[in-house]
Amino acid sequence: MQIYNTLSRKLETFESISPKHVGIYVCGPTVYGPPHLGHVRGPIVFDVLRKYLILQGYKVRFVRNITDVGHLVGDADEGEDKLAKQAKVEQLEPMEVAQAYTDAYNSVMDRMNVMKPSIEPRATGHIIEQIEMIQTIIEKGLAYEANGSVYFDVMAYNSHQHYGVLSGRVLEDLQAGAGNQSRSLEGQDEKRNPNDFALWKRASAEHIMQWSSPWGKGFPGWHIECSAMSARYLGEQFDIHGGGMDLLFPHHECEIAQSTAAHNHSPAKYWIHHNMITINGQKMAKSLGNGIMVEQLFSGDNPLLAQAYSPMTLRFFVLQAHYRGTLDFSNDALLAAQKGWSRMQTAFKLVDSLQTVKADASCNVEDIDLGIQESLNDDLNTPQVIAHLFELARRINVVNDGKDSITEATKLTIKSIIHDYCEGVLGMKAEDGADNSGLEDAMSILLELRGKAKTDKNWALSDQIRDALKDKGFEIKDGKEGTTWNKI
Ligand SMILES: [Zn+2]
Repeated sequence: MQIYNTLSRKLETFESISPKHVGIYVCGPTVYGPPHLGHVRGPIVFDVLRKYLILQGYKVRFVRNITDVGHLVGDADEGEDKLAKQAKVEQLEPMEVAQAYTDAYNSVMDRMNVMKPSIEPRATGHIIEQIEMIQTIIEKGLAYEANGSVYFDVMAYNSHQHYGVLSGRVLEDLQAGAGNQSRSLEGQDEKRNPNDFALWKRASAEHIMQWSSPWGKGFPGWHIECSAMSARYLGEQFDIHGGGMDLLFPHHECEIAQSTAAHNHSPAKYWIHHNMITINGQKMAKSLGNGIMVEQLFSGDNPLLAQAYSPMTLRFFVLQAHYRGTLDFSNDALLAAQKGWSRMQTAFKLVDSLQTVKADASCNVEDIDLGIQESLNDDLNTPQVIAHLFELARRINVVNDGKDSITEATKLTIKSIIHDYCEGVLGMKAEDGADNSGLEDAMSILLELRGKAKTDKNWALSDQIRDALKDKGFEIKDGKEGTTWNKI
């Protein structure tokens, strides 16, 4: 399999460090709020990668952490802890906040058919490992204590290693940029260099989350948890480290620096980054007010949503884009995904009842089988896999219509393609209560008739169909992509 390694900035052939075993570490959520649309892409992408490796016979250990301390509001070394802040707002223990949002996150993952991690370590459960790693880095002369906090010495590190190896940033440029930062930012005056980052922060008395350490009471910096926990569960060197492109710098850059400082080599062989989700062409941000919670997506309860979308529709939508490309969320795109997935499911349900012939059948699907493998081996090209599956659906329909013939052997191959790739690697499954295929068919007949009435300028009839459906709780919308319907 060829996979794009951010570290080398090129496609590389995947080779596991130990034969038939793969260790994957993916940065998990900071659990201080309900999961939103920005949380769904990474887990789905890395779930597909994991499932494809499993299909190829690898034993995969998949570690996805829970950040429940150390991630500060400013995403850097300043500001309140995100968890502690939310705990104050909700008048809860920080661990209650962490538990509630971890559960919410995992429930969304279950619904999207994302496999549970092999290990789901929490930052607060690994304070000792983090302290030990910080001590090692201090002993190597690459971190220093200042006023009860410990900072990573970027300049000292960069004299032997390359700080910026992952992001391609150059320290000199970063220095110039950092010069513009306000010196009044908390902790800045303790640092030898503005680019140094916190490994450990001194806690003031009122800080809710704090632990004893060789440097006094405090709490770990955000980056050190991933270095400590990945080494603990996957070893000092493991196969794949994944995350969103937004984590590339500084988070992953700092992880590499910390792990290299402590263990003398880079932690992961392959660094894989997925691109972000935009909403109607805009970055998703609290300030833009365009955040959509995943639960809202499933219920339709958000002004930006024309209707509710099922977890599998969301999964299909995510997989229709290559993981390194941007993915723009819009109602039109989600509706298209819903229709596509429904069409595919309808065709796949016909397979069992296809009539077979003994020989001389003209329908063959070997090319599709091969095409899917080639697409997955080509940097996990899921949109291409879906295109092959649509072609499979088309051929099934042709056979079902009696316009082509099929042997029992080909039918078995079709079943194994659906089982291994659609359900297996892509992780698409039939949804309980969402089996609307009959309803979809009936509605499309009605909408077609209404379309014909409109073409014939029979407005009375077209309105009658619309109003009658509305009475029964179905809303019809005429949009640029044609007419759509949803249950109200
Ligand atoms: Zn991380």
